[in-house]
This record gives sequence, C-alpha cells and structure tokens, in this order.
Amino acid sequence: MAKDEKKEITIKGIAASPGVVHGPSFTFLQKELEVPTYEIPEKDLSREVSRLDQAIMETRKQIHSIRVIIAEKLGEDEASIFDAHQLVLEDAALMDATVREVKVTNLNVEHCFKEVSNKYIDAFSNINDEYIKERVADIRDVTRRLMGNLLGHSDLVEGKLTQKKVVVAEDLSPSETASLEKGHLLGIATDKGSRTSHSVIMARSLGIPAVVGLHNISDFVHADDILLIDGYNGIVIINPSEQNLFLYGQIEYERQSIQKIYKNESNSPAKTRDGYNITIRANIEGIEDTEWLKESGGDGVGLFRTEGVYLSNNEFPSEEEQYESYRKVVSSLNPRLVIIRTLDLGGDKVRALFFGGEKSRFSNSDIHEESNPFMGLRAIRFCLEHTDIFKKQLRAILRASAHGKVKLMYPMISGLPELRDANRLLEECKHELKESGHDFDSKIEVGSMIEIPSAASIVDLLSKHCHFFSIGTNDLIQYMLAVDRVNDSIAHLYEPNHPAVVRTIKKVINDAHDKGLPVSICGEMASDPIYAILLIGLGADELSVTTSLIPEIKYLIRKLKKADTIKLADEILKMENTKEIYNTLRNYYQQLMNEILENYS
Ligand code: PEP
Ligand code: MG
Repeated sequence: MAKDEKKEITIKGIAASPGVVHGPSFTFLQKELEVPTYEIPEKDLSREVSRLDQAIMETRKQIHSIRVIIAEKLGEDEASIFDAHQLVLEDAALMDATVREVKVTNLNVEHCFKEVSNKYIDAFSNINDEYIKERVADIRDVTRRLMGNLLGHSDLVEGKLTQKKVVVAEDLSPSETASLEKGHLLGIATDKGSRTSHSVIMARSLGIPAVVGLHNISDFVHADDILLIDGYNGIVIINPSEQNLFLYGQIEYERQSIQKIYKNESNSPAKTRDGYNITIRANIEGIEDTEWLKESGGDGVGLFRTEGVYLSNNEFPSEEEQYESYRKVVSSLNPRLVIIRTLDLGGDKVRALFFGGEKSRFSNSDIHEESNPFMGLRAIRFCLEHTDIFKKQLRAILRASAHGKVKLMYPMISGLPELRDANRLLEECKHELKESGHDFDSKIEVGSMIEIPSAASIVDLLSKHCHFFSIGTNDLIQYMLAVDRVNDSIAHLYEPNHPAVVRTIKKVINDAHDKGLPVSICGEMASDPIYAILLIGLGADELSVTTSLIPEIKYLIRKLKKADTIKLADEILKMENTKEIYNTLRNYYQQLMNEILENYS
C-alpha cells in the first residue's frame, strides 16, 4: 500500500474562536498512534532500515532538549529520568530485533517496531519487580516518541512550538494551552472540546482562531500537512486547494477591514444612541493581558480568572507570589477597576493540575480525582475546605487593593452559608492584615457569582451579604440544562437561547435591581455580539467580555438604542422555543450589521 497523496479534506466542528488562519500543523500527540502496515520492495529494505537510524537520532536530540528544559525549570533530579530514556534508545536488543523483523517480513519499519516494542513491553510488564515495572513506563514513553518520529510527527517536543503552526490535538487542557509558545501558535483544532472549555476561552482571549469538537481530526493530520482554520464557521480544511486559500483570504481580508473600523473607535464610550452608557470590561488571566485591554478600550476588568497564577506554578503560590501577580495587574490598570475572582479550581481546570503528569504537581492527600468534577469539590467549595489556601489568596487580594480599585467575587456560590463563610474568612484576613500593619481597602466590595440555579433563585437573600452580582453564563447554562459544558457530543444541547436561561437571567437582574444591586454578565454569552444585544435589553448593567471582542461590542452598542433592545428582549421573553429566539436575535444583529456596512461601502 502506498502512502496517501495529499488531498483536500474538509471537517466540520464547533466554531470556538473567530478568525481564519492557515499554516503547517503541529501535532500534539496524546493518544494511540495509528500505525500503517505496508510492504517494502526488496531493493528498498536498506533504505527502510536507515529510517529507523534517522528516527533514533531525531528522538535522541528531542530527549536531550527536553532534558535541558526540565533541568532548568525543575532541577537535575527531575531531569535525570531522561537519562533513562536515552538508555532505552541505546538498547541494541530492541533496535536490532526491529531491523531483523524488517528484513524477515519485508514490512515497513513502523509496523515492525510496534511489534517488537510491544513484545518487549509485555515481557517486562510480567516481571514482578518494582524497578523493572518503572522502567516499562520509560520504554513506553520512548517508543511512543520514536514512533511519532517514524510517522513524521517530528514536532513532538512538549509544548515547544519553534515555528508558526496550527496545533492539532485530541484535546488541550488549560495548562497545555498556556504552555504553547504564544508567538508561534497560529490556530487550534481539536477532536474534543466546546465553546466554553477553558482552553477555548483562552484561545479566544488571545485572538487565536480555533475549531473544536472535530471528533477525529488528529487521526487525519500528518506533520507536514497545511491546515486552514475557519473559526467563524467551525471548519477545518486539511491541505486546502489554491481556490480555497484564495476564497478564505478574501473573507479574512474583509473581516480585518471591519476590525480596523472597530479598533479606530475603541476608545469612544459604549453609549447607546438614546444616551445610555454600558460598561464594558474584560475577562483576563494575568498581567500579560493588560496592555491589550488598554488598547481595546475596556473599562477595567470584570473577571480576573486567578487560576492562571496557580496553573503556571509548580506548587501552590505563596501569599507573596499571589500578591505580586495581583498588584502588577491592579497597578498597571489603575484607575480602572479590577474585579478579582477567587480561586475556581475544579471542572476542566483540575485534571492537569493535580493529575496531569507522572507526578501530580500537588501531592495533597485530600485531593482526589473525581468522577464528576464539574459537580464536585470545585471553586468556593474547594476554598472553604482548604481555608489555608483560600486565606492566602484573600490576603493577597486585599493587599493588592491598596494599589488601585479592586473588588473581589466568589465563584460557584450555591447558597447563603457559602457566601457568609467566605465573608467571615475575608473579615479574619482583614483583621490579620491590620495586625501585621499591611495596607488594604477595608471597604472592599464583594460580589457573588450567579452560576448555579439555586443561587439564581435566592438573589434577594444573597443581596444582603454582597455588593454586586456577576452572572457566569458558562456554568449557569451547564447546570440549568444539565449539559456538560466540555462534552462535544452534547454541544448542540448547550443553548444560551433556551427560554429557561433567558428568563433566569431576567429574574436575577430584576431581583438584584429590586435590592439596588448591579449585575454584570461575565460568561461567554456576553462576548457573542448576538447575545450581548439581548443582555443589554434584559437590563444588564455591565458586560465583561473577551478582550479581543471589546472594540466590536462597544461599536455595536453605539449603533443601538437601549429602548429597542428592551423591546427586543420583551419579545424574546415571550417566545417558546430556542430556534425562534436565536433566529430573531440573529436577524436583529444582521440588520444592524447591514446598516453599519452600508455606511462604510
Ligand atoms: C462562567 O461560568 O460563565 C464563568 C465566567 O466562569 P468560568 O468560565 O471560569 O467557569
Ligand atoms: Mg464559571
């Protein structure tokens, strides 16, 4: 069987982060590699054998560079595991047996290497000796890497993109996404994932086009394939034709021209045509997002996801380290407001951190892998169980509040006791800081996120213990509709346009306003221009959105009349089905866009 010619393949997935991009692929290998079997003519056997030598050399170089990185980041002890990997590569028995197999069977070297290495691994696995068992893990790791090189996945040097490439993976965890070299990350295409998985939210905030839920794209893509990502329509084209490259080039050109118009006016306020100011803040992950936020014209930060501070460290950060991270953001954005959300570990943000590698980063015996982490010990629940960790963060946030305008908010509040307990710990922290002579804003305002239906129905009760609300629609939708937000096979059931979701948002806003408290929306729904219009009509006081979309949303608001959006929302609230709601919103948005484009053509 000859190897495939490069043909164009189009795969449809979920549009996760807008934009069109194309470039060579970078395969982030995570699952079993598919190994082809084909015959080698007698005259080509020695060339086939030399492919093994070539792959061994390549693998040796990769292991060496990983060793250098690990030694630098984690020290010699951790790096020495890669010496054992080099020894596996030097193992003459394994490599000689592979060469023999090629010569005897006349089959390709990948097939023969798989056969031989599997026998090797089986034999070692059956020896009842702990040391040998540990070596089996090394053999697996090295043989996988070597196989990757034989198959042409030569990019496999963990998280190290050395050129501009499109990353293809079965799935990406937030920490894997964070570890990819930003300057070289052109786009993302994954088998799994959804619009609200945290790696996708990160891609969107970086302005990197992404398509997820592609089911088996990682099976189709080879290392030298060119990939075109259409993040608007959720399409990936493997080895696109000249015609498609031209067509998509046009789309991107037009899109960028409109973006320029949005950006030129990004510092004008988001004031509706009938005179209402809508506050547009940004969702950020750390100091690296602040310059862009300023350029984009955001009114500060409506959601500072602090998990990044934890995910980028090798152990739980100290109070001092956290204080530094928060202080930098607050000072850099002063006098803009920064709303810092306390730790929301759990869900898709827990696996990589605790159970990610051969050694979990935090070997806390109280932390167990859960079968249903989104419903488990997540966010405020985790913090109230681990008050030592929580109080370190609260003190760090309080200390940062001495450097600018800061509010804090708690994620995943499900009832009154959690809000009260969190506030009690906050008061304890204030007391401790006073004793130790630290400066902080003693009147710091506290918000409760509304992400769980139970919290949505007791806004009147919660309002006695907080100063504002922030609706996290990503989770609210997941918990209201019982649809796992990162499960691509049920992504079609994850509907922001469900009447129950729209009514609940309206009720939260009304109940909060009755008590005189403002409501912000910080879930991804606010970053979608179609839904942003609805949220304004429902009475949201603020939207906190992906930084890359701030100029567009502000521009759109300047073209709207608030009175019209209220009428639109009233109509939507009477509707019975999701399609009708979506079509009405999309038509409204489309009409507005047509008017905008007419004025510019
Ligand atoms: C949300 O749930 O809408 C939210 C903003 O929080 P996260 O996406 O970090 O869970
Ligand atoms: Mg949430």
